[in-house]
Parts: sequence; C-alpha cells; structure tokens
Amino acid sequence: MLEKQTKPKPLHTEASLLGAMESAGKEVTNEAEREAMKESGIGTPATRAAIIETLFSRNYIVREKKSLVPTDKGLSVYETVKEKRIADVAMTGSWENALAQIERGNMQPETFSKAIEVYTRQITAELLETKIVVAGENTCLCPKCKTAQVRFYPKVAKCTDVNCGLVVFRNISEKQLSDRQITELLTKGKIAVIKGFKSKADKTFDAALKFDENYRVTYDFPEKKSGKGKK
Ligand SMILES: [Zn+2]
Repeated sequence: MLEKQTKPKPLHTEASLLGAMESAGKEVTNEAEREAMKESGIGTPATRAAIIETLFSRNYIVREKKSLVPTDKGLSVYETVKEKRIADVAMTGSWENALAQIERGNMQPETFSKAIEVYTRQITAELLETKIVVAGENTCLCPKCKTAQVRFYPKVAKCTDVNCGLVVFRNISEKQLSDRQITELLTKGKIAVIKGFKSKADKTFDAALKFDENYRVTYDFPEKKSGKGKK
C-alpha cells in the first residue's frame, strides 16, 4: 500500500481563469439552467478581462510569475460570500433561462422583473449584515516557527503559515487583548499581570499570561495556588 496525499488544484493563471469563467456553469445540475448558460458563463467576452482587472485593483489577487494568488483580503471576501446567493453560479443560469422563456413568450417580462426586485432586496440585506474580516496593518515575527509573520485580526492573531498554526485569541476570560499586549506576548513570551479576568463561576481574578511549551496561552499566577484557571 502506498500512502499518498491529494494535491490541491493548481493556481489559476489569467488564461485558465478566463477559460473557467467562460465555461462556468458546466457543473450546474438543473438541465434547463445549464443549457441556458451554455453561451454565457460568467461575464461576456468583452467584460471578463475587466473583471479580473478589478480583482487586482481591489487587491483580491496578486500575480506571482504566471499564477494568480489570492490575498488575505481576497480569501476573506471569498469566505464571506461563498455560501451566499450572489456567489451562486446557478443564479446566472436561472436568469438566462428566464430570459430565454421571455424570448419564446413563455414568461411575462413583469414576472422576471418582480423576481429581480425581490432578489435585489434580499441580497442587499444579506450583504449589509456581512462583516468582512481583514487583518490590521501590524505584524510580528512568529515565535513558534520563527519564520512567518503573525497578523492581527479583530478576534484573533494568527501565524500566516497554516502549517505552524499559532493562534492567540483576543478574548480571554472576558478581557480583550490589545495589539500591544499580543505583541508583548509574541516577543517576550508573556504579558504582565492583567486585572479583572472573569472565571466561569463569575469570580474576578488577576493573572499574567504566557505561552506554554506548545505556544498555547495560559495563565501565570504569581504564587501557584492550584492548577485551576488553565485555558
Ligand atoms: Zn508561525
């Protein structure tokens, strides 16, 4: 027996992405929608290149040699919208299908236009509720792998190297760690005593924080009373 790992799909080049946009919808399961999309894909021959340019200008992707590499910002946007209808390729298919029905006189244009109105209202509400999480400007050398940088997000700070996996949660027993405090932890391995942590039993306590040998954040009590309060 051979033990092997699956390889991730190779990154898109500009040419392969254009091709993928053109043939988007081949995997749409509804037959009428797939048929209706056959001629369309995502965008038109005139707009596809401009769509890719927009990905560059919004800093969603960068070019590395020939590959298009998603940025942190691009991946955050992707994570946010991937389950939403605005990112659903089948939607284009259903629109193309409806337009074809109108052409053949099988659907009233008003019906389609009403449905678009409802859709627009829903998708706008959905997007307005959305918060896109983007890392702040600060970075700090990762003390665990000692090669990659740690980036600061609203809820966590984490190493950019996923194989390293260092993560520091900002919220610790109802206290929020600032960038400055996390930087202290990353550079010195500990943070001076913080007052007013709240235990699960709703008791307040003071403690310093430090990394344990696996770079997990633990409390550091001045005089060790017990092993309690370990995170
Ligand atoms: Zn690291």
